[in-house]
Amino acid sequence: MVEVVIVLHEDASEEEIEELVAVLHEVGAEAHISRGEFRTVIGVIGDREKVMQMPFEAYAAVEKVVPIMKPYKLVSREFREEPTVISVGSAVIGGGSFSVIAGPCSVEAEEQVVKAARAAKEAGAMLFRGGAFKPRTSPYSFQGLGEEGLAMLAQAREETGLPIVTEVLDVRDIEVVSRYADVLQVGARNMQNFLMLRDLGLQDKPILLKRGMSSTVEEWLMAAEYILKEGNKNVILCERGIRTFETGTRNTLDISSVPMVKNHSHLPIIVDPSHATGVRELVVPLCKAALAAGADGVMVEMHPNPREALCDGPQSLTLDCFKEMMDELNEMAAFLGRK
Ligand code: PEP
Ligand code: MN
Repeated sequence: MVEVVIVLHEDASEEEIEELVAVLHEVGAEAHISRGEFRTVIGVIGDREKVMQMPFEAYAAVEKVVPIMKPYKLVSREFREEPTVISVGSAVIGGGSFSVIAGPCSVEAEEQVVKAARAAKEAGAMLFRGGAFKPRTSPYSFQGLGEEGLAMLAQAREETGLPIVTEVLDVRDIEVVSRYADVLQVGARNMQNFLMLRDLGLQDKPILLKRGMSSTVEEWLMAAEYILKEGNKNVILCERGIRTFETGTRNTLDISSVPMVKNHSHLPIIVDPSHATGVRELVVPLCKAALAAGADGVMVEMHPNPREALCDGPQSLTLDCFKEMMDELNEMAAFLGRK
């Protein structure tokens, strides 16, 4: 295998690009095109001998050919310098804005999700979350409402216009979840479910890929690579804390992964302080830390009545507390020159 980036001249024409792609396909190589504001690059993945023998200098459109040194290719900054910006309905993730995704851990009832979604919308959230298929540690805990829950999320979208983020727990559920959701979430426990990642790479909806609780940043980016390799370029990374020896919090928020990912990848990254800490009081300060560290947004759990939540009540913000947090984040974002 060899992976190189063909950097094209600024004035390379569509015909020249098509011609290059055609000859790459002839030698059995994959050609991944990335169109930047100024120039187009082609990421090439293929047989080393065949690719390296190609007379790239004979093509006028080619400026240079650069090998990608990192184990991940299509997600790397070497492949694409410009940050990826993902649009979902009215929402945008990446490109300078700080987007908040909010909602309960689980969909429990129509009234609960609609109430939460209205509060999310009013306070300025861009997307609404809620799990209908829940990955629970205990098989005796509430497992989610399944398709019935997805329909409730669709109802919440109908009422508020907020796009829906919800988890795909199993490869068998991709089809049904895609029928309702706007963004498909891969939970921490599935980050290395490679067959599912491949299938999600064939979907046309953005994927929110959570970091595995024992995964390095490199393993996380390799997981994203599985999705991009199949053609789906819209991946949002989500730092949700990793396992450490600390027991005061559910996980330890690795805030350093935000600037680290920014250095190595063009993909947007958001932070989930709810699952990182498991403690309501820590969520607001860590949302601020995420904004300060350069994250593209946060995902937080909120609930009309956290005490009665069927899942993750102790880490869920009340609707009032969520509104207060949004006001504080707005002020801070304005100070930092973010939207
Ligand atoms: C969730 O966001 O609903 C969730 C289960 O989180 P994680 O996969 O990060 O544990
Ligand atoms: Mn949860």
